[in-house]
Amino acid sequence: MTARFADVVLPLPLGQSYTYRIPTSLGDRVVAGSRVVVPLRRRELVGLVVGTTDEAPPATVNPKDILGAPDAEPVLSGPLLETAKWMAGYYGAPIGLAVKAMLPGGMWGSSKVVVKLAGRTGTVGGLAGQVVDFLRRKGGEAGVTALARHFRQPVWGAVDRLVRIGAVVTVVVPPATAQPGTTERILTLAGERLTLLERQQVFRRSPKQRQLYETLEQLGGQAPVAHVRDQLTISESVVKGLVSRGLARIDTTAAPRDPFAADPGSPPPTKLTDHQVAALEAFDQVPVGEGALLVGVTGSGKTLVYLEAIRRQLNTGRGAIILVPEIGLTPQTVSRVRGVFGDQVAVLHSGLSDGERADAWHSLRSGQRRVAVGARSAVFAPVVDLGTIVIDEEHEASYKNGETPRYHAREVAAVRAKLEGARLLLGSATPSIESAAAVGARLRRISLPERVGGQPLPPVELVDMRTAGRAKDAGAFPWSATLDDALTRVLARGEQALLLLNRRGFAAFLQCPGCGHVVTCERCSISLTVHRTPPRLRCHYCDHNEAVPGTCRECGSGLQRMRGIGTQQLEHFLIDRFPDARLARMDLDTTTTKWSHHRILEQVQRQEVDVLLGTQMIAKGLDFPNVTLVGVVDADTALYLPDFRAAERTFQLVAQVAGRAGRGPRGGRVVVQTYNPEHYALTHAAAHDSAGFLAAELEIRRSPLYPPHVSLVNFLVSGVVEQDVAREADRLANWCHALVEARELPLTVLGPAPAPLAKVKDRWRWHVLLKGAGPEIGRVVRFAAQRLPSGKRVRVIIDRDPVSLL
Ligand code: ADP
Ligand code: ZN
Ligand code: ZN
Repeated sequence: MTARFADVVLPLPLGQSYTYRIPTSLGDRVVAGSRVVVPLRRRELVGLVVGTTDEAPPATVNPKDILGAPDAEPVLSGPLLETAKWMAGYYGAPIGLAVKAMLPGGMWGSSKVVVKLAGRTGTVGGLAGQVVDFLRRKGGEAGVTALARHFRQPVWGAVDRLVRIGAVVTVVVPPATAQPGTTERILTLAGERLTLLERQQVFRRSPKQRQLYETLEQLGGQAPVAHVRDQLTISESVVKGLVSRGLARIDTTAAPRDPFAADPGSPPPTKLTDHQVAALEAFDQVPVGEGALLVGVTGSGKTLVYLEAIRRQLNTGRGAIILVPEIGLTPQTVSRVRGVFGDQVAVLHSGLSDGERADAWHSLRSGQRRVAVGARSAVFAPVVDLGTIVIDEEHEASYKNGETPRYHAREVAAVRAKLEGARLLLGSATPSIESAAAVGARLRRISLPERVGGQPLPPVELVDMRTAGRAKDAGAFPWSATLDDALTRVLARGEQALLLLNRRGFAAFLQCPGCGHVVTCERCSISLTVHRTPPRLRCHYCDHNEAVPGTCRECGSGLQRMRGIGTQQLEHFLIDRFPDARLARMDLDTTTTKWSHHRILEQVQRQEVDVLLGTQMIAKGLDFPNVTLVGVVDADTALYLPDFRAAERTFQLVAQVAGRAGRGPRGGRVVVQTYNPEHYALTHAAAHDSAGFLAAELEIRRSPLYPPHVSLVNFLVSGVVEQDVAREADRLANWCHALVEARELPLTVLGPAPAPLAKVKDRWRWHVLLKGAGPEIGRVVRFAAQRLPSGKRVRVIIDRDPVSLL
């Protein structure tokens, strides 16, 4: 018999795979997609087989033997492995990282292999027999390394024999991770609130306690100790100080449990609307391997269409994946999926421990659960016999991965659907321009033109902040009389409001009124954001923070001015102006602890909150019938960013948040404050007109040419020495030019140029942009992936189909 060899990848950023010899004893267990234990530089690692061959490697390579094969079934199915290879090629990423993106952490790499007794015990002799005896003494299981240490020799051969006769099984166990605690300490303010005068006296020698006190106040009087310590970077003694003075108390409560695990789900409406029936019939007509774009206005009942489409498939034995933008922000969708499919659902989310994640993964791989719900990476869920992939809010930028491989879940889903013979269902009220352009080619269009129950879409009023009257006593705060009046009425009627301000912190930046100097981050070319709790200047890119200066560093002038309001300032303002309203704020700063999104959204659901204010987090798919007012405090935050998607993002954000209003019988309205009321992104958003917006945007993207008319590759060069970066960017651009000319490729090379964000975390950034309408761009990516330098000094990132050029 000829020797056989396997190509094995490890979860490392290496372009190459390693060749190992397959021992005859393991022959049938080592196939493409299975995990294997291999020796690498005196270590044993768990790797993944991407292919096998009879062909011996060149004589210079002396392949080592594969040590073990822990799985009876390959962990990656054929279609998933093919998807990984496609991803590596299309995005110019190392195959090891493409596979790494697919498997939950801890399933390979430095994981350890454990041997467990499996019932059948024949009579085995030699080392194998001794291993069985040892396992019996040890309660039935032991790590392979422990066994080897005990017997002072490798035990893989013996273990393999035992696996074949069914005496033991081997399992891959992730490296130990810290188990989340089961209790949590909550800090609560006690007693009457101190007056300003009292505060000055009480906290004269303890400013940190005052900070803590006031932070708690802002968080509604209560917060987990871990959260405030983390936010304020204070020590336990500050907390103790506050408690010992009777100003606060600590309660130990059971730590919040995974709310997805406990939630039985909400039952679905029983009767489909006519439009939903028509949409489902249209989806039934979509051939396998292909897809549809479901364009349904906000509140049109898209979720029920997804669920019904999946239910029909499950009845024929096929499973499904549902992708949502961010799982913490979409508990309602998850709950509806649970309500219909119950125990068949595996919810994949970032709150899972490695072990829980591996369990969820196995439950899908084994076919025990048939439906996976999760964010971006759930597109790789090992659902058996996959029939449907749903992508809810398909326009969301979070579907694009921010690190290598920089895949877009929508593209991966299309490829996987084709390979699996599954069908793809993309849904949105504000479809991405890419998907809209694919209608008629890759995608069929299905529409839900009305809200369920014939509810009208809420009227949207654009308030021109250049001329609009400000609310009385609002001072310089950008708060119009219109929004003030609308909120006053909503509160008086006991209804709820959402206020969107897509900028966290207290103020956007600090500027000197004397010389105009703006304080920027020393590590990034970006202004520092002013924060109040605690009072610091903070960089939102690298988290650098520093004290708020009292005087200008440049000219010495005192009294620095804050510009551009953030959510903390809006909250301050509202507390003052509507002292009786119950507020909640949702942004990155209030959601650092596990399940914090959930806590806030549940309070809104139970109507314990009158006004939910926050960043774009509050704009995603929420369905609260008692919300009758949506206010966009500043619609212009992203409008003029130097990025070709600025208008598209603004349209989507405003139209989506507007769609949260008026979902119940009381109707609703939307007030949008802007300095650009005639901007087409805003006029179309105000009219809930995504078709109109897309038509306008398609024209604008013709000159200069941008997607979807061409595709883009952004080569991002970065390094700590600007000259090195500039030189490398120049070399890269020349290389691209030469290639394009030599082969007469129909591609345009732009740059090199400094990126709009010229420096992030001490690394200078330059980029070279490649544009082209045809498939040639992919050849350049694959070619470049082999050649690009990736050293310490300069790194080149290939970003194909970038979602942002900042
Ligand atoms: P979308 O995702 O399109 O914005 P949702 O799926 O959240 O809309 O549905 C909006 C609301 O309409 C939800 O409260 C949902 O329960 C309700 N709904 C959906 N379909 C029906 C139906 N057939 N009958 C009654 N209510 C429905
Ligand atoms: Zn100055
Ligand atoms: Zn920074």
